[in-house]
Amino acid sequence: MSIASAILGGSHTHRAMRGHPWVFRNEITALDGQPGDGDEVQVRDGQGRVLGHGWYSSRSLIAIRLVARGEAPLTDDLLRARLGSAIALRREILPDLPCRRLVASEGDRLPGLIVDQYHRRLVIQATTAGADRRMDFWRQALVEMLEPEQIVERNDVAVREREGLPQRAGVLVGQPSTGLRARLGSCEFPVDLLDPHKTGSYLDQQGSHLLARGWCRTGGRVLDCFSHLGGFALHALAGGAAQAVAIDQSERALAGAREAAAWAGCADRLRTEAADAFDWLKRAESAGERFDLVVLDPPAFARGKDAVAAALRGYQELHRRGLRLTAPGGRIATFSCSQRISEEDFLATLVAAASQAGLTLRLEARLGQHADHPVLPAVPETRYLKGFLVRVLGA
Ligand code: SAH
Repeated sequence: MSIASAILGGSHTHRAMRGHPWVFRNEITALDGQPGDGDEVQVRDGQGRVLGHGWYSSRSLIAIRLVARGEAPLTDDLLRARLGSAIALRREILPDLPCRRLVASEGDRLPGLIVDQYHRRLVIQATTAGADRRMDFWRQALVEMLEPEQIVERNDVAVREREGLPQRAGVLVGQPSTGLRARLGSCEFPVDLLDPHKTGSYLDQQGSHLLARGWCRTGGRVLDCFSHLGGFALHALAGGAAQAVAIDQSERALAGAREAAAWAGCADRLRTEAADAFDWLKRAESAGERFDLVVLDPPAFARGKDAVAAALRGYQELHRRGLRLTAPGGRIATFSCSQRISEEDFLATLVAAASQAGLTLRLEARLGQHADHPVLPAVPETRYLKGFLVRVLGA
């Protein structure tokens, strides 16, 4: 079978030439052949040199995602080796965590393939045509390599629509029940692998959850805002905090947090409130509440290019409100998973909010996604989660 070739336009330095795996449709000046969705395509520069091989999409703005550089076409052995080295990396760096991201798309040089491990179960997601076309291959390879008890497919995410892929979810291998008690960090949480309300990662904050055991003074109070299952609250309580309040708009997520607190034997020290976080923060401020640790972990604010300015205003407001609730000498841990907001611009919103309030901050840690979500420096999109732990020093 012959492979189609895409020629990149003239004299530009395309991102693909700098080690980025994406080729946008408008960068292609000629397409030799008629690749179908998910087919392998060879990518060449204007001088005809082969840059690498990737997977084609006829729908997405990103027409090709490179899987490998150089002359050699893609083989099953290469894909199997990629899977194997992704799994080996987690065994090396996170040997003690039973739940972790085993394959992180571009971060593991398998664009669009995500595999999460929850103890002996796996969740697969394909967000590109190339990864989707090879679902059977991934399933078989993972069964051979890991002998999982169960494989669940979560191909029910909106990004798939950009590639013209249908919505699908279900159990591919093993038992039908998809609920489990998962150890995330050092606490146990109720997780349903097929929960329609939850398709994102539970896992990217696992490293920061573990650190949060040391963030609150012994006997202190914690506010976990945008808590989801309360990963920060539960770990801070485990680390010696006396009390935690978890705020989320999802009552379902908070019910999970309460169940986890009951399992940890600290249900009486966790209060949950289903509310819009911005409204809740306003009310708490009027009520004169104070916390020794405030965690702010909102969903992505900036989805499109134009949303950046609005997102920065949103972060600044959140920081202003969070600072008002922080006890003198306490800490704020704040996160942004908005890909388009840079780490420094995000930090600047915190600094501006502190300066308006006449407070001095000390940066104690730069935080980010856990190590099972690898960052490729040539691919800025792989570093999507940024965070800071700061001490609020007062006037
Ligand atoms: N902090 C969590 C992850 C948070 S994900 C952890 O470490 O695991 C973002 C959460 O924000 C989701 O649970 C979502 O339900 C919640 N959320 C989104 N918009 C909200 C709003 N306006 N007010 C309160 N919660 C909100």
